[in-house]
Amino acid sequence: MPAPDGFIFDLDGTVYLGESALPNAVEGIAELRRMGKRTLFVSNKPLEPREKYARKLTGLGIAASPDDVITSGFVLGYHLARTEPDLNLYVVGEQNLLNELRGHGLKIVNEFLDQDPMEVIDPIGVDAVVVAFDRTLTYRKLNTAYQALVKGARFFATNADKMCPMPGGGIPDAGGTIAALEHMTGRTVELLAGKPSKLIMSVALQRLDLPAERVMMVGDRLETDIFMGQQSGMQTAVTLTGASKREDIARMTTPPDHIIENLGDLPGLMAQYA
Ligand SMILES: [Mg+2]
Repeated sequence: MPAPDGFIFDLDGTVYLGESALPNAVEGIAELRRMGKRTLFVSNKPLEPREKYARKLTGLGIAASPDDVITSGFVLGYHLARTEPDLNLYVVGEQNLLNELRGHGLKIVNEFLDQDPMEVIDPIGVDAVVVAFDRTLTYRKLNTAYQALVKGARFFATNADKMCPMPGGGIPDAGGTIAALEHMTGRTVELLAGKPSKLIMSVALQRLDLPAERVMMVGDRLETDIFMGQQSGMQTAVTLTGASKREDIARMTTPPDHIIENLGDLPGLMAQYA
């Protein structure tokens, strides 16, 4: 295997936890960058603009611009703008996602659907429904999405996480909303932008401008971060700072290429490729 020239980092549980950088994350990333490695950060959450992640990383000591970050909302917008730029989208999502998708030049029709949400409305002009993590979910939104889907609208999602980890537990994420609409309509979501889709990795590779075999995916979750890195033909490293323990990794049929205590171990790994 060639030495990786680029690194894709998961954020929560890999680079930081809550508001604090994980041990040696700042130093490890700085050292990789001194070695000339390209870095990109990925988040499955469509709730915040990329600027906010860039500011957070910079505040922790990892200098980052919005271009160094991709979110599931960004990936969906980036992809649709290049493949299906003319679809009218109905979005079950928060304001930031609407802004994100509009920023890619996409058309959102949420405002024009002012019919009574207790009735069988006619989702005039809705070509596709986008389902996302939405803490402002309402019956009006569910019914509108339902009516559009039963009339044949395309079915996209930013992310399919069941819950979003929070201090003290977790809160419902997009997975339940997708499942509810699939259950009600018999339809299946046809495009998932976020982890563990190949799409988010393919957009990440485009942003890094590197082939998959020259990139290492670094994350704390085996079933998302490591799985999608492997599926995309990347090298993989699991960090023990988050969701995975050594015994979970030992049970895997296709284990990651590297197991690291934290991101501080990455620069040392590069010597193995010399
Ligand atoms: Mg994580």
